[in-house]
Amino acid sequence: MIRNENFRIRTHIIKRLILGNRCRICAKTSELNKDICDDCSVEKIRVPQEILLSFSFTDKNFDNLTAPFYYDEPVRKCIHNFKYKNFKPAAEFLTAELTEVISRDFKDETPDFITCVPMTKIRRFRKNYNHGEVLIKYISKAFSMENTPRLLKKIRNTRPQVALSGKERRENLKGAFAVNQKFDVKNKTILICDDVITTESTLEECAKTLKKAGAKRVICAVCALNNNNF
Ligand SMILES: [Zn+2]
Repeated sequence: MIRNENFRIRTHIIKRLILGNRCRICAKTSELNKDICDDCSVEKIRVPQEILLSFSFTDKNFDNLTAPFYYDEPVRKCIHNFKYKNFKPAAEFLTAELTEVISRDFKDETPDFITCVPMTKIRRFRKNYNHGEVLIKYISKAFSMENTPRLLKKIRNTRPQVALSGKERRENLKGAFAVNQKFDVKNKTILICDDVITTESTLEECAKTLKKAGAKRVICAVCALNNNNF
């Protein structure tokens, strides 16, 4: 079916009238003219740009990092709605914010690939989708680029990171990823997008894998930073 912009807007308005308007962050019903309800102010949890600029990457495998928010309410709820309830307006809100910080903080970067943290084939099959793939679909569209969700592969199962200490997390992920042979990353800049950075272990291991394969720069954009670590 061919859908033009007018059709899309009309459908959106009809949906709102029938189903009511839902806040893009908490998914509760909100006033018709508001995309975000009065309870969901995000200004207090925005990461100040000077904090991002103060990060040092000398001892890291990745070379740059940006994020719009700290991992706190109401963004925590928004990420939950996006990841576990497949709530599309939450995905749209998060990726619009990500796009903005990428444009602002990575204006001197020229990524050759946009990718996400991979899952093992079995886990992806069980979950039916990888939320990282959804993020990069939106982000690559915003920058008129192709997205490459299969650039990295997860080649073995790992324990859930949540209950592990920093050192255990690094050990747990060692050698868990590989670069897909279909792609040549030599001398390339790779942008990895993810939802939350809790410790840097996952992005560090992805970046290490890419650097070993010859990548020139690895830059990371996440929806939220854990405020205990940053
Ligand atoms: Zn709300």
